[in-house]
Amino acid sequence: MYNRWAMKKLLSKLIQAETTADKGELAAAEIISAELGRSGIDSRIDSWDGTRANIISQIKSTGSKGALLFACHLDVVPAGEMNWKNPAFAAVESDGKIYGRGSADMKGGIAAIVTAIGEIIDSGTKLQGDVILFGAAGEETDSCGTKRFVHDSGGLPKLAGVVLPEPTDFEIITAHRGMLWLKVETFGKAAHSSTPHLGVNAIASMRSVLNELENFKIRFEPHELLGECSMSINTIVGGEAMNIVPDKCDIGIDIRTVPGQNYQDIIDDLHKIFAKLKQKNPQFEAQVSVVREVGALETDSRCNFVRDFCSAVDINETGAVGFTTDGPYFASLGAPVIIFGPGKPQLAHKPDEYIDISDLKKGVEYYKKVILKFLT
Ligand SMILES: [Zn+2]
Repeated sequence: MYNRWAMKKLLSKLIQAETTADKGELAAAEIISAELGRSGIDSRIDSWDGTRANIISQIKSTGSKGALLFACHLDVVPAGEMNWKNPAFAAVESDGKIYGRGSADMKGGIAAIVTAIGEIIDSGTKLQGDVILFGAAGEETDSCGTKRFVHDSGGLPKLAGVVLPEPTDFEIITAHRGMLWLKVETFGKAAHSSTPHLGVNAIASMRSVLNELENFKIRFEPHELLGECSMSINTIVGGEAMNIVPDKCDIGIDIRTVPGQNYQDIIDDLHKIFAKLKQKNPQFEAQVSVVREVGALETDSRCNFVRDFCSAVDINETGAVGFTTDGPYFASLGAPVIIFGPGKPQLAHKPDEYIDISDLKKGVEYYKKVILKFLT
């Protein structure tokens, strides 16, 4: 009954759909919709801006048990500047692996869960709780798809739990750090650079911000699983020409947070730095804005959902990961969230990303066990 060929074909089509933020997710949503349609399962594609898309498929049941939400993301990061052995979006199969951008993160997981759902429906199994498959746009950029889904989640049935089929190499992940991306801008006054005293140099202002940030300590309590909060200044842009005093400069700061941190506190502390610098130099002008924020994820690993999940897949340990997901948005629906899927997390976002075909197969078996455990 298990159709290995169909699953590989599905994964190949998803990789070839090249769902970067530029190209959008619509093609992948249509591929999944067609695949589920072969088992008579209806899907709804929520599309906007021409190419952006979410897909939602809810398989109705008797409803006597809480529903399971499998939450995926359809988008991928770009192929990057580095050379790939095989073209990044060709989905080449060799040595038992399928290569391509998104093979691990996370189209392999999508292929496995879509196949698992199709098989369960094809077998005629009667479900007592709904299976909901969600595929989001924009997880790698701004979480636009998941925010849209959560915002419109009023009609969802009561959820037993949420599973993110992200690449964890079949580790059960219940926690990750959050992420706060900030843009700090300094403003000056342009002038001809032969008379710099007539201007205000925004790059010089940024230098004083950078000096302050050197000693800036973000307040946090270390977390037993996730460790410490970190901060890294990763971009800087300023100046227009060699002979103009720059009137603008900005930096991008990536802060990885642990549970319990209040993002507004961090922003308030930066405002205090600006006020101090303005006191020293009245011409100093700066502002900070939030580019992206995702909360930390912390699911109680002793809750019933996690315990039952562990027993369904027969894996007893849970853990934490360094990367972030849309998980905290789903946690806001009031359901426990687990990240669990095929593929090696260290291959995500790298050249020559691949997934082992044997892991896809294992993924299907695990997801079937999970659905049967919770919904029959
Ligand atoms: Zn991912």
